[in-house]
Amino acid sequence: MNLLKDPFISTTLGKVSLKDILTSDEDYQLQYFFDETQLAMLQMLSSLATVVLKPTILELKGYIAKGLTAEQYDLALSKIESKWFEDDCFMRSKASNKAKVADGPITKLVSGIECGGSPNALGLFSDSENVTIACSDCTHVLNYNLHMNIKGECFGPTGATGIRGGGAITTLVSGSNLKETLLFNVVAIDFYQKNTALSDSADSKFMWDLPLDGDLYQAQNIGLERGLFALAYHIDFVIEDQIAECHICGHESNKITKTFKRVKYSGAYGSTKKGRDNGAGWWLHPYTPRNEKEDGTYAVCARDQNWQSWQELTAYIIGKETDKTAVKPALIINQFQNALSNGKANVLVGGNIADQGSITGRVYDLYSMPSSLSKNNARITQVIDSGLDQKEKLSIALNKMFGVGYDKNFVSGIKNQAMQRFTTNAQQIVQQILLDVDRKEAAELRKDAVSSLSNEAKAIFKSVQRKYQHDLPLFKALVKGEFILYKADN
Ligand SMILES: [Zn+2]
Repeated sequence: MNLLKDPFISTTLGKVSLKDILTSDEDYQLQYFFDETQLAMLQMLSSLATVVLKPTILELKGYIAKGLTAEQYDLALSKIESKWFEDDCFMRSKASNKAKVADGPITKLVSGIECGGSPNALGLFSDSENVTIACSDCTHVLNYNLHMNIKGECFGPTGATGIRGGGAITTLVSGSNLKETLLFNVVAIDFYQKNTALSDSADSKFMWDLPLDGDLYQAQNIGLERGLFALAYHIDFVIEDQIAECHICGHESNKITKTFKRVKYSGAYGSTKKGRDNGAGWWLHPYTPRNEKEDGTYAVCARDQNWQSWQELTAYIIGKETDKTAVKPALIINQFQNALSNGKANVLVGGNIADQGSITGRVYDLYSMPSSLSKNNARITQVIDSGLDQKEKLSIALNKMFGVGYDKNFVSGIKNQAMQRFTTNAQQIVQQILLDVDRKEAAELRKDAVSSLSNEAKAIFKSVQRKYQHDLPLFKALVKGEFILYKADN
């Protein structure tokens, strides 16, 4: 099987090839059991398409507008060494014979970050114990997912951290169908070059062709194609000839695997403390928003299990500056805004909410964007800002309870629960309001947002009041707080 030629991608219309998706008008939709596999698949397929097409912005615009013929695909494919995408080779560098090999069940690859030791490491999906078998086609996306998400500590002493650090948030541009989505997330080589500071001698060989060496992996030496599939482990899968149903894609296969083997790479990327402190630098990963701090660049991650993506949406599409940090949108979002945007697109925010080596939640949210994302940013920011304003008001109103003299933990518990409810409910409200982003002007959108989100904050506040109506001190404090929610919004 070759990933650039053969049908290994699970869709609602059966297994298809990358060429099928890019060159036909069928409405293929990915079909995998877990969001994280879908998310990894979108990134992996766009990265594969980047390697085959190597388009300039102008060429990419043409593919998006007019599509791509089978002949164009074959011609592009004939110009690259497709042997590196054979299934016994792709993203599998070979460890030395002397290396100590660790192994684990494929279950640990589904989120790509799961930790062996911690109790909630497998808590990501409800029936994790049922995910024990992968078909040989799905080993590639599992391997890719691991490398894009893994943080060293997840595997203890046998762990290494991938090029973008552990559990990073991913943002992708989502089109009207799978073909358009993949093309929107193809990296244009001229745009990449303009935005990155690669050295002239940067290597573009794949790491399973030319493995990394040394203690420090300098970002400026890692070319685009090399970095898109950057490794941190020698990985192999134990393939058995046995007929079974794959727990990742649901297809029956006669080549299955239950176990993967790993040997870690010993050097450090700039995504780690060691790499950062020694000046390895941040590799500009196209799908990862980043946080620029005084001591270096970090991938944006979600650490709080009650976190919801709407709160950070402005940062992911426009960026956000504060005193000490600057959040920069992922390159792929910049590319869309600056060079491609002339059609309708959505932004997909995905990833895991990780705490140490454990997964405490996951994110897979789709937001409508105005068709001219470069001009109409205000429509989005105003919606998000009104949500954050209402959140702040609710917080101040609830703070009145702390004046009563009750146990602080007890009061914090009441407040936190109410705040979490607001943040969670606001997620759907914001997504809903943004559906009208092209039909309504900024002022009207803002008005809708303020009214829905303010009603939500008031409803949550009222339910707290109702619950404590017989606790006179708390009730009185809440009455004092109430006016804050009713103050006019400016
Ligand atoms: Zn499968």
